[in-house]
Amino acid sequence: MPADPRPEVTLAPAARTLRDLTGIPVTRLHGLGEKKAAALAKWGVTSVFDLLTTYPHRYIDRSRQADVADLALGDEAVVLATVRRSGARRTRQGRSLVELAVHDGTGGMKVVFFNQPWRARQLEPGTEALFFGKLDVYQGGRQMTNPVVDVVGAGAQQHTLRVIPVYPASAKAGLSSWEVGRWAEEAMRRSGTLADPLPEEWRHHFDLLDRTEAFRRVHLPEAMGDQAPGRRRLAFDELFRLQLALMLRRRALEEGARAVRHVVSALDVVEPDDGRLVRRFLGGLPFALTTAQRRALAAIFAELSGPVPMHRLLQGDVGSGKTVVAVAALLAAVQGGHQGALMAPTEVLAEQHHMAVRALLDGLAVADPRRLEGERPVTVALLTNRTGAAERARVRQGLLDGSVDLVVGTHALLTDDVAFHSLGLVVIDEQHRFGVEQRAALRDKGRAAVVPGDPDLLVMTATPIPRTAAMVLFGDLDMVVLDELPPGRTPVTTAWARAPEEEAAAWRRVAEEVAAGNRAYVVCPLVEESERVQARSATEERDRLARDVLPGLRLGLLHGQLRPAEKDEVMAAFRAGEVQVLVATTVVEVGVDVPEATVMVVEDADRFGIAQLHQLRGRVGRSHRPSWCFLLSAGGSTDAESRLEALVRTADGFALAEVDLALRGEGTILGARQKGRSDLQLARLRDDGELLDAARQVATAVTEDDPHLEGHPDLADEVRLFLDPEEEAYLFKS
Ligand code: ADP
Ligand code: MG
Repeated sequence: MPADPRPEVTLAPAARTLRDLTGIPVTRLHGLGEKKAAALAKWGVTSVFDLLTTYPHRYIDRSRQADVADLALGDEAVVLATVRRSGARRTRQGRSLVELAVHDGTGGMKVVFFNQPWRARQLEPGTEALFFGKLDVYQGGRQMTNPVVDVVGAGAQQHTLRVIPVYPASAKAGLSSWEVGRWAEEAMRRSGTLADPLPEEWRHHFDLLDRTEAFRRVHLPEAMGDQAPGRRRLAFDELFRLQLALMLRRRALEEGARAVRHVVSALDVVEPDDGRLVRRFLGGLPFALTTAQRRALAAIFAELSGPVPMHRLLQGDVGSGKTVVAVAALLAAVQGGHQGALMAPTEVLAEQHHMAVRALLDGLAVADPRRLEGERPVTVALLTNRTGAAERARVRQGLLDGSVDLVVGTHALLTDDVAFHSLGLVVIDEQHRFGVEQRAALRDKGRAAVVPGDPDLLVMTATPIPRTAAMVLFGDLDMVVLDELPPGRTPVTTAWARAPEEEAAAWRRVAEEVAAGNRAYVVCPLVEESERVQARSATEERDRLARDVLPGLRLGLLHGQLRPAEKDEVMAAFRAGEVQVLVATTVVEVGVDVPEATVMVVEDADRFGIAQLHQLRGRVGRSHRPSWCFLLSAGGSTDAESRLEALVRTADGFALAEVDLALRGEGTILGARQKGRSDLQLARLRDDGELLDAARQVATAVTEDDPHLEGHPDLADEVRLFLDPEEEAYLFKS
């Protein structure tokens, strides 16, 4: 460090907590004036906490430093060299290209950067920098392409460091990685010892460094590899805070809960139909439950009859039969005189569920002592924003007086002024956004009922999600998995139709299957704009197919802009075979069940996500008939092509979920859950499963004895620091 005449004061008195560090502006650091502070602020860094939680994304190993003259072709090395000339231009393909001539006194080479136009500003002639990369030869000249760069400041300490941390994006913000490293070093030194809220025995048990050492290793590793255990500890902290928050949420929900005691038992799954609702429903199904379905239902029923409200996640692959499980659970509530609600994220999905549930309950009666016959049909109502005023009033009245047993709707059900007679169970379909407010609203709905009680909750995912993602997104729920498909399904042959002749073969297959009495879906390209635009393009596609591609076949059209009656009509026609090919937008994604459908054609398949394509494919192969899924796509980004390849390779939704995580990373998967500080910066759900298990174990143990963290004020404070305000208010309301 350059000598500084000012006396150095420590930044805060005792062992500092992370919260303390959030209160120290970066401008307290040496050489950090307003201009640099503004650049840091643009990068989201205003406090010492922000600085220390901005982590290097890679490290340069100075032990591999070499002279340019000594480098052989293919060597990977670090050189310290000065820029002599620099120029920027565009390649013929329009990519930006920055070219440098650099020299280190022993020899020279060319350095080129593609798509990093800001390098021209960063590396002006005269700049001294470390270049880390592989030496190759291009057009007879020696060159490094897209090396890692660290600009060396005047009198740089880097000359003495053996490992140099490289901070991401700093150059774009007008900061050199070296400067950031220097401030991090100073912040570490002046912060002294950081408080460690993780009890010593747990650190020991899981072989985790203490926090001060962990930060030091990440920002100032002494040897290559030192940083890994530091990263491990800090990644643990990220996961631990999340798990603690989830556990606190869970315990808060259980606290003072007034569970609805359902009249049902695990035995209802196996005992014969004795006329009671659940057994009658199960006994009347046209198929036997799978072992997985029986196991799931037994667990659900046992919990429903218990003293604590259920909070459960039901995961299963496409076609594993989640709907039947959900409906049986809803009927368990009805059997005891309570009501059930099934909520979907969109109106279209709610309408489809309504149809499916109605079909399953057709002819089923529930005991009603008020009736002369002693029973009445189970009533299922639909309530969405599209429900007309008169119908709406009728449904609301029925929910209030208890004559409506089950209601299917969107999440608006929770916020609406709908009141229940006795809300016993809520099933939420494919919901990644069922946050703490909705949880509270749900409980309030139950408590505001004529017969108050805390309703039980069952959350379903449309397709499986990876175990680690489930632990983060749904860590406050118990899990139950349907890991088995009903018998008699034939695997779907999946093909990626790339070339025109492959596409032609797909359409030929459609025609052949229709000729054999089967049916086909064609899913139209995803149109970003509005549902209206989507509907129009689906209509055009139907016309094109009818005219040019599938002449003579009977084509139907299904999209989100149709009125419910029109949708019912077109689906009925498809079921009956009057419509042979259903051209649809992604509204067919979930829930549509037509066993005669044997071909699924997805246009522009590269524009869909893995889970969506897997869902779509799940619409066929629902009987003993052989089925096909054609993914039409001339190609796309590397990721898109990896998605299509994965779909062709495997039909296992759990395996596809892992591929999806690998391709997309946690950011997008956790999407809605991720907010500001609670981002996972270091932890990787793909690789850190073991760390996540450890974090969960500690969080469970700590909250078991201390559900409000009253005995762990330091942990409580830290969790609060990372929670968003509404969650904090909910979990820590006094
Ligand atoms: P998903 O889990 O994808 O929601 P569904 O609940 O839509 O699956 O069920 C898919 C199909 O399998 C439906 O036609 C349903 O009636 C049928 N099904 C469900 N359980 C069984 C079973 N045990 N045996 C045979 N068919 C079943
Ligand atoms: Mg389903």
